[in-house]
Amino acid sequence: MNVNTAAKITQQLLAAGHAVAATDEEADAIIFNTCCVRNTAEQKILSHIALAKQLKRQKPNLKIAVIGCLSAKRKINGVDILLGTDNAMDVVEKLGVAMQPLAPEANATAYIDITYGCDNYCSYCIVPYVRGHLRIRPYDEIIAEFNQVKDTAKNIYLLGQNVNEYPDFPKLLAELAEQPGDFNLHFLSAHPKDFDLETIKVMARYPKIAHDVHLPMQSGCDKILKLMNRKYTVTDYLEKVKLLREYMPDIHITTDIICGFPGETDEDFDATVEVVKQIKFSAAYIFPYSNRSGTVADKMSGQVPFHTRKARATKLVEIMRKMS
Ligand code: SF4
Repeated sequence: MNVNTAAKITQQLLAAGHAVAATDEEADAIIFNTCCVRNTAEQKILSHIALAKQLKRQKPNLKIAVIGCLSAKRKINGVDILLGTDNAMDVVEKLGVAMQPLAPEANATAYIDITYGCDNYCSYCIVPYVRGHLRIRPYDEIIAEFNQVKDTAKNIYLLGQNVNEYPDFPKLLAELAEQPGDFNLHFLSAHPKDFDLETIKVMARYPKIAHDVHLPMQSGCDKILKLMNRKYTVTDYLEKVKLLREYMPDIHITTDIICGFPGETDEDFDATVEVVKQIKFSAAYIFPYSNRSGTVADKMSGQVPFHTRKARATKLVEIMRKMS
């Protein structure tokens, strides 16, 4: 989603005659498009912003803009423009550039938002607090954007925190896959609790839908999945993997896994390792659990020491590396 927003802002500024500066020192404006899903991302961006503020002391006309979810989470002093995710595009006008109705750039990859925000409140996740409630993008808007990109983009991604919450997602997917054009259709991300057989059947039926799915498992232990408020069990997850492989033997399944979630014992972690070995994902994004203030998990008892979280993540990364 951030890649998509950044590309649209860049396109507006380039169309108005601006250029991308080679270095911060040469820039008239620095735009930080932020993510605060993980604590390390937040700390990194704060140190980059501090450097930009130092630069501004030598170059008072430099404009600093901070957009995206970090701006919704905390107050940031000493910057010129501060905008959340919903109005991030307003940065263009706030920099004194009039927005123009531009056709999306002829890129090999195009991203189309189909939903915004999230109401699932997974107990570790800050997204519902910084991106707001689930909003469904009007169907006509999705189709209009799709028609603009389908002749130039090779890969088109439908985006949502949980695309399966789009009303009748399989129908939307099928309708887009029926359109003429030489494109591959993808979607990001699916949610194991809502990802259904109908979607799998549509994926298998239409050649333009890529046989890849990102299905974040997060843990291979039911106790931890419950604490995470994920609303599926390991058995449910395995069943979806089985169906995917039945309908599409060449399917690429990727996932996300959090290691060292509060309450996770060595045995719970071992259960995750076993499921990972059993499923044989094409790739997995494995992270030590990151506390986010304001979330339910941050206040849970049984917080796992950071070195244990890290050691488990390192072990799982190594197992995945060997398997892939
Ligand atoms: S579904 Fe995804 S975005 Fe929504 S709360 Fe859960 S992890 Fe966060």
